[in-house]
Amino acid sequence: MEFRDLKKQYQLHKEEIDKAIHDVLTHANFIMGNQVTMLEKELEEYVGVKHCVTVANGTDALQLALMTWSIGAGDAVFVPDFTFFSSGEVVSALGATPIFVDIDEKTYNVDTDSLEQAIIRVKEKGSLTPKVIVVVDLFGQPANFVVIRKLAQKYGLLILEDAAQGFGGSIGNQKACSFGDISTTSFFPAKPLGCYGDGGAVFTDNDEWAELLRSFRVHGKGRDKYDNVRIGMNSRLDTIQAAVLREKLKFFDEEIESCNEVAKEYIKRLGEYVKTPAILQGMRSSWAQFTVCLDNENQRNQVMGRLKENEIPSAIYYPKPMHKQGAFQNVLSEQYPCPVTESICRRCLSIPMHAYLSKDEIMQISDIFISATKAGC
Ligand SMILES: *Cc1c(COP(=O)(O)O)cnc(C)c1O
Repeated sequence: MEFRDLKKQYQLHKEEIDKAIHDVLTHANFIMGNQVTMLEKELEEYVGVKHCVTVANGTDALQLALMTWSIGAGDAVFVPDFTFFSSGEVVSALGATPIFVDIDEKTYNVDTDSLEQAIIRVKEKGSLTPKVIVVVDLFGQPANFVVIRKLAQKYGLLILEDAAQGFGGSIGNQKACSFGDISTTSFFPAKPLGCYGDGGAVFTDNDEWAELLRSFRVHGKGRDKYDNVRIGMNSRLDTIQAAVLREKLKFFDEEIESCNEVAKEYIKRLGEYVKTPAILQGMRSSWAQFTVCLDNENQRNQVMGRLKENEIPSAIYYPKPMHKQGAFQNVLSEQYPCPVTESICRRCLSIPMHAYLSKDEIMQISDIFISATKAGC
């Protein structure tokens, strides 16, 4: 059984994907070929945002957004304590200070009360300038942007939406990657919309920032790439990856629909035995992960072991709070009490989630899961 079944997806769409890749090989337009521009247009339309700038990966996408806002030493950037390392790594890479804040137990997304407390305390201390909130749509569900937008306005902060996992999700009829002042995603193969290598994109409605992003991604180019007016990066999406993504985008919504069916079935079967993900009113998740929470670490290990014995893959996203990562011990960083993150890191477990899971597989996973939660705990 696969945790995320990329092989089956390819088999189902082999013909179109092979053709798209071969077209690039034939035209040999490997860097910034016209498929890149076409993909950007299609993604702008899909998300409903004015500008899409594709880049080399989701981490660069975040860093380029912060570079566009000139974030650096002395700036405070608020980051959820429960996320993938990148969300905070890019802040430190630019010499700014990540401030880690706790999450909401039900959604795994940032807790808006903890966020506001952290903003107030950083302001009171006065040694750093609060600038940006990195808001992660963790496991596929968009964060609480209604409240976060109010906080951003109240304290004069910019919102950077990290939708590496949330791409394809929505709030009402508004799509993920449209909630930030700048929003980013990743096309890493296992993400909701994945390519066949590394890839990413940045989204914004702001013309000036889009212009800067296009410059930063090609060595801070001015009129052309041999006229360099700022220190940038080399961070382009390969044409082959763009060609693959254009094909995958055609059946992307169908896949998300199927993932939502899988989630419904899991919740029906597991809901009374374990804490299943809570999807709030009006939210639609893209189901990057299906993550449950066990009673304690022992029970989690027991369930994980039992699944493994039955050749069912599972994974711990994430075993460590950001503020406990060794890397942040050696750079400027701050954290406010994060008891929820600490507790969830000990109890969370992600189980197979993708559009091609059969009812039989869901049943098998659920049965083994339930029997393992009962045994011995
Ligand atoms: C995967 C991920 C990233 C980074 O994306 P890459 O393409 O792997 O660089 C950033 N943030 C979150 C929340 C992610 O899950």
